[in-house]
Amino acid sequence: MSLLKEAEPGREMEAKVQTWAQSLVYTLEELECKICYNRYDTRSRKPKVLGCLHRVCAKCLKKMVDMGESSPSVISCPFCRHETNVPDEEVWLMEDDRHILGVLSWQDRARRGGGGGGGGGGGREVVLNPSSLT
Ligand SMILES: [Zn+2]
Ligand SMILES: [Zn+2]
Repeated sequence: MSLLKEAEPGREMEAKVQTWAQSLVYTLEELECKICYNRYDTRSRKPKVLGCLHRVCAKCLKKMVDMGESSPSVISCPFCRHETNVPDEEVWLMEDDRHILGVLSWQDRARRGGGGGGGGGGGREVVLNPSSLT
């Protein structure tokens, strides 16, 4: 099984050889859940990482358990069926994707700060400039 195949077909090779800077670049598609197509957020729809490194939002994980599609103690990945143990049968306790959370909170801050970026449009990519993180 190859990981992340669905997510970024053309990109994964590139990402592997790129420097750290590449890891700070996320397309908008990577910032949304591939199940519900909603954007991750830093509250109820946190990006959760499964053991196979696939990402699903916390709401979808919860729904899978509620609908009986997945056991509450072991989540079966909707993409590759890899099974991941759930701590205390509580999907909220599963590991967050810190990188995505970082991008989201950075975006929230940038938006709240007003000023720049008001012109909309722009590229489809979210680029984090390390100097703006300090
Ligand atoms: Zn979702
Ligand atoms: Zn998976």
